[in-house]
Amino acid sequence: MRCLLFACLLLGSFPSFALDRFQVEGYTLRNGLQLLLKPGTERGHVAIRLVVGVGLDDFSCDEKELPHLLEHLLFSGIDASGEGGLEERMQALGGEWNAFTSNADTTFVIEAPAKNQRKVLDLLLALLTQTRFDDNAINAAKQVVEREDGGHYTHLQRWLDRQDLGHTASNQLAVELGLKCPERAQVDHLTREQLERVRKAWYAPNNMTLIVVGDLDKLLPAYLDRTYGALDAINPSEHPPLPQIQASAAHERTLTRGFVGDGAKLHWLVPEPVLQDQHDETFDLLKDYLDWALYRQLRLAHSLSYGPWAEREVFGGVGFMSLNADLEREDVAEAEQVLEELKAQLLKDGLNAETFNRLKQAAIARQAWAVQGNSALADYYWSAIGDYEDDRFANPARELQAVSLQEANKAMRELLLQPGYLRVEKPLLSDDQLVWTIAGVLGLIVLMLVGWRVQRRK
Ligand SMILES: [Zn+2]
Repeated sequence: MRCLLFACLLLGSFPSFALDRFQVEGYTLRNGLQLLLKPGTERGHVAIRLVVGVGLDDFSCDEKELPHLLEHLLFSGIDASGEGGLEERMQALGGEWNAFTSNADTTFVIEAPAKNQRKVLDLLLALLTQTRFDDNAINAAKQVVEREDGGHYTHLQRWLDRQDLGHTASNQLAVELGLKCPERAQVDHLTREQLERVRKAWYAPNNMTLIVVGDLDKLLPAYLDRTYGALDAINPSEHPPLPQIQASAAHERTLTRGFVGDGAKLHWLVPEPVLQDQHDETFDLLKDYLDWALYRQLRLAHSLSYGPWAEREVFGGVGFMSLNADLEREDVAEAEQVLEELKAQLLKDGLNAETFNRLKQAAIARQAWAVQGNSALADYYWSAIGDYEDDRFANPARELQAVSLQEANKAMRELLLQPGYLRVEKPLLSDDQLVWTIAGVLGLIVLMLVGWRVQRRK
C-alpha cells in the first residue's frame, strides 16, 4: 500500500516536473556572465552551450567573416600540441564539441559525459583564455572558412553574384533592398590585429551566456563561480543597428538559374508588418495557414506544384513571408493566376475559422513533443534567450493559444494588401528552345556551306 501511495505521488508529480521546461534556474555572476542551469531527464550526460553575443550582423560587409574566422581560430590550440592536441584532450574526456557563428551570436556547443562536466568546462575556459594564434593558424583557418563558404571566390562567381545569378530569390531581393551584402564576404584581407580586436571587444563574461542542461554536478555553481567568475568584464560594445529597407526593388523580376531545363520556381515575397503583441506566434500560425492553403490550391486543386510552401525569413532588421512553388516552366503564368486568386479570396472572406483553429491546435500540440532530451532543451534555451525573464522562458503553447482569429485576420490583411515582390526563377532556355537553337545553328551552317559551293562553281 505504501509503495502504491509512493508510486501515485511520483506519477502525480512527474508531469509537472517533466513538462516545466520553461522554469530554469538562472543567475548572473559578479563579472556579468549569465548562467542557465537546468537538471534534465537523461542521466549521465550534459549539454553545454556557451553563447557569445557577437555575430555576423555586428560587422560591415568588408569585415563580415571576422567573428566566424575567430571562432575557427579559437580551436587552433592552447599549447605546443596545437589543434590536434586540443582535440585529443576533448576525446580523452569523452566529449564532442563544435561551434557556430550566426547573424546574432557565436556559440560553442558541447555534449559530454556528466562525470567529466567540470573538466570539459575547464577545457572550454582554456580555449577562451589561452589560445594564441600565429600567422600559420590564421592562414589555415582562412582556408577552412573559405571552403565552408563554397570554395575560393572566383572571378566568375563574383561576376555571377553581380549579375544576380548566384543568389537565391529571397537573398537576391534582400540585396536589392539593401538588407544584405551584394557579394560573398572575403577572408583573405583580414588581419591578426582585427581578430585580436574582435576578441577583446566581445569575448567577455558580460557578453556571454553559459547554458548547462542534464545531469548537473552538485558542485557546479561553486565551481563556475571560482573559474568562469574570475574572467574580467569589459565595457560592452554596442551592437550596430540592423539594416532596414534602404532601396526600392522591382515588383516583378525573372532570375536566370542555370542554362537549360523545364523547371521553374515562383516566389511572392512580402515584408511582415510589425505587430504589437505575439508577432512571431501570429506569423508562425499564418505561415502554417498559408502553407496549407497553397497545398490545397496549387497541388490538390490545380496540380501545378508538388510541394508548394510558405516560409518566414529575416534579412537585417526585416522579416519576410514568402509564398513559393516549384513548377513546370510553362505553368508559371497559370500558377501566378492561382496565387492572385488565393490572395484575393483570403482578403475577401478572411481566414476560415475551422481551418485556423485546427492548425492552431496542431501547433500547440506540437509543443508537447517538440523539444526532447538534454541537447534539444539546451538548443531551445539558446534559441530563446531573448525570452528569458524571472527564471522563466515564455511558454510557446500559451503564446500560440493567445493568438485570436481576429488578430490573425488583421495581420493577414496587412500582409496580403501589400504588392510584395514577385520573382520567377528559371533556366536560360527550355529543353525545346535548346533543340530549336541547335537546329537553327545547324541549318545556318548548312546554308553557309551551300552558299559557299554555289559561289565556287560560279
Ligand atoms: Zn565555420
